[in-house]
Amino acid sequence: MTTSPDIKAKVEAVFKDYLEGNGHRKTPERFAILGEIYSYKGHFDIEALYLVMKEKNYRVSRATLYNTIELLLDCNLVRKLQFGKNISHFEKSFRWGQHDHIICTDTNEVIEFCDPRIQTIKATLEEVYGVDITHHSLYFYAKRKSQTATK
Ligand SMILES: [Zn+2]
Repeated sequence: MTTSPDIKAKVEAVFKDYLEGNGHRKTPERFAILGEIYSYKGHFDIEALYLVMKEKNYRVSRATLYNTIELLLDCNLVRKLQFGKNISHFEKSFRWGQHDHIICTDTNEVIEFCDPRIQTIKATLEEVYGVDITHHSLYFYAKRKSQTATK
């Protein structure tokens, strides 16, 4: 899946409104980082993003990356993931299909899945507890079944 130019324009508009509304500077670096994130396939950590940007000759420091990611998390353009190691992973979140993750702890593989029952649970919880759920975090940690066992 690639990000359409349409989505890129929309996320830029969301980010611009957010930065203006919260008194943050609209620096070209921040928009370059947003653009890279929305071009990036899959999950990334800060170091991977740093290397990708460095390779493309952007002069962006790790500190700027951390700082910008915080802003993007705050305006929900990026989602933070914790795959069970110390480092955080991230992924783009704007219209990117609701999904959750299975982490294979033996192979470090991350499987994305989408199960509509999670939406049902969410709706039920909102009704029963009188709350508005803003986001959720769900991980299944797994081990690959051995080849013989799967056949
Ligand atoms: Zn994902």
